[in-house]
Amino acid sequence: MRGELLMTGDYVNRKLLNDVTSYDCNSNATYVVKKFLKPYPSALENKVCTDGCNKNNTKRLLNMIPININIITESNFKKIKESIDSALLTETICSSCTSKAEFVYTISDHIIIDTNGCGTCSLEHIPYYLTVNNKTYILRGLSHYISTNSEDLNCIGHYTAYCRRSDGFWELYNDCEKASKTISKSSEVLPHIIIYTI
Ligand SMILES: [Zn+2]
Repeated sequence: MRGELLMTGDYVNRKLLNDVTSYDCNSNATYVVKKFLKPYPSALENKVCTDGCNKNNTKRLLNMIPININIITESNFKKIKESIDSALLTETICSSCTSKAEFVYTISDHIIIDTNGCGTCSLEHIPYYLTVNNKTYILRGLSHYISTNSEDLNCIGHYTAYCRRSDGFWELYNDCEKASKTISKSSEVLPHIIIYTI
């Protein structure tokens, strides 16, 4: 399943013996979300001219919800809502009539946040509930980045997944290990992608 999915990416491949193909899948979590979750955007951004000229209204599907990364790092991941609210309040100018234009966002039933590995935090500091545009979301999990200590310069590191179960326990999924394991909520993580759903 994962192999079939990765074959649809833009990864460089090499034919080996016996009909075996090797894919160089070195990529980061941002690439994976943009490429493989493209049909599932977190939001629709609609730029609307407040003067109603309607000439240059534009719509854009957003893979990930916009965030103000400084608010996330300064609050040690506690102010994710404020970080999103701050990024969604952007006003602009209509490029057609130069009146004020504003962005109207329709948020999906899931929210993907790309923190770009901006820092570490304890799992319990990441807000469990998140209310954006009057919808309340629940924290489901995150991808955790482990930088490489390999001498192979082509190796960019490793990702593991932390999933928050409805009973409040955290589980760690690491494909270098045989089974998932339960993790303390005080564990330190380096989130790259954080996922909330309704
Ligand atoms: Zn206008």
